[in-house]
Amino acid sequence: MADCDILVVGCGPAGLSAAQYAARAGYSVIATDALAPGGQLLYIDEIENYPGQEKTSGYALAESLEKQAVSFGVTIEFSEVTSIEKKGEGAFTAHTSSEDINAKAIIWAAGARHRELGCEGEKEYQGKGVSYCATCDGPFFRGEDVVVVGGGDTALTDALYLAKICSKVTIVHRRGEFRAQKVLQDRVRAKENIALELGKNVRSVNGDGKKVTSVTLTDGTEIPSSALFVFVGVIPNTEAVKDIVDLEDGFIKADDAMRTSLPGFFAAGDVRTTPFRQVVTAAGDGAVAAHSADHYIQNL
Ligand SMILES: Cc1cc2nc3c(=O)[nH]c(=O)nc-3n(C[C@H](O)[C@H](O)[C@H](O)COP(=O)(O)OP(=O)(O)OC[C@H]3O[C@@H](n4cnc5c(N)ncnc54)[C@H](O)[C@@H]3O)c2cc1C
Repeated sequence: MADCDILVVGCGPAGLSAAQYAARAGYSVIATDALAPGGQLLYIDEIENYPGQEKTSGYALAESLEKQAVSFGVTIEFSEVTSIEKKGEGAFTAHTSSEDINAKAIIWAAGARHRELGCEGEKEYQGKGVSYCATCDGPFFRGEDVVVVGGGDTALTDALYLAKICSKVTIVHRRGEFRAQKVLQDRVRAKENIALELGKNVRSVNGDGKKVTSVTLTDGTEIPSSALFVFVGVIPNTEAVKDIVDLEDGFIKADDAMRTSLPGFFAAGDVRTTPFRQVVTAAGDGAVAAHSADHYIQNL
């Protein structure tokens, strides 16, 4: 059994930023991660849009966030939080894959993962042309032809973003109709450099071993392409807390102070309802969550 003032669950950019702010404010902080500090940063080969940081690797950024948090006194642990119990105001117990941890406040920063398409070549070409984030990777394919798969708001919004920087964008969607808002559908259909392949799915993503060169559809059509952007859903890591806080489409509902429906339990980063999921927004959420946890504890 361990005790701390603030328990941070997840050591991605949101969790490490929250832990750093909370420890620097004088609280005892445990930050625990089921895998390794860094979260999704560990999958980013090159990141070039984190403010103040010219091109760097996700690993290097993760390492410096962790070092900074530890320098302010954060204790990093490696365990998965399986459930949270609230025993009273300022009295939480987290059950983990190792020991129980008591805390006055909890910051849930467990992130999210992108749903994969499951087609041939997808795993092999991740980071070599297969991407799940247009803002992150689109600029690497400036002036080239790319394929987008998906039919919801994210797929169409990101296809419109890509159409501004890529020469041609082909949207592949397994149904005959998009699910996205009508306004987005109208914009997509009006764009000269966006082509539609409806009622089909992606059979394989092909390449030369180093980069993507084409995408083959289920009807056998092969589309020359430098990238495949997959937007078929995001899965938030909320399984362990789904019965104690309000969710929206699986994401934790949090206000702009990162407060959830459960007082003393805050959410930050990709795991919460937010219009934009990036490293900088996750880090910002973490700082706000630590500030709100401070306010909560001071008012106990
Ligand atoms: C391939 C790729 C490229 C990207 N490129 C960019 C980019 O160029 N620029 C950009 O700004 N963003 C980019 N992103 C998005 C960015 O990485 C995320 O928005 C950001 O990492 C979210 O941070 P987070 O801390 O909220 O969550 P995460 O980074 O997902 O971290 C969550 C952590 O919580 C841990 N965890 C989950 N459940 C539990 C549990 N029950 N108990 C304990 N620990 C748990 C996980 O192991 C993980 O380490 C990219 C993402 C990917 C996948």
